[in-house]
Amino acid sequence: MNQQNYKNTKKINKNTNKKTKVTLKSSYKPYPCPCGGGQSCIVNRREVGDWVHEDDVFRKANLPIRKNCYTAHSQNQLNAMRPYFPN
Ligand SMILES: [Zn+2]
Repeated sequence: MNQQNYKNTKKINKNTNKKTKVTLKSSYKPYPCPCGGGQSCIVNRREVGDWVHEDDVFRKANLPIRKNCYTAHSQNQLNAMRPYFPN
């Protein structure tokens, strides 16, 4: 019975393969960060579990972390970053 079901499912998938692909593309969400991602992207780094320096600084200072690269820093965040990002 299981094997029969498996066969049927396989057949259905094959037939609707084209449709499924289109659906996936149209429902594809844009990258959560407006910068488009990359090695220096904070969203990208969080996603892959990479260390994000400013997140670390903000957490230590009890400040909220930025949503993405284009989120403006608050004055408190800027103050907390100053010793670590001198520019
Ligand atoms: Zn980004």
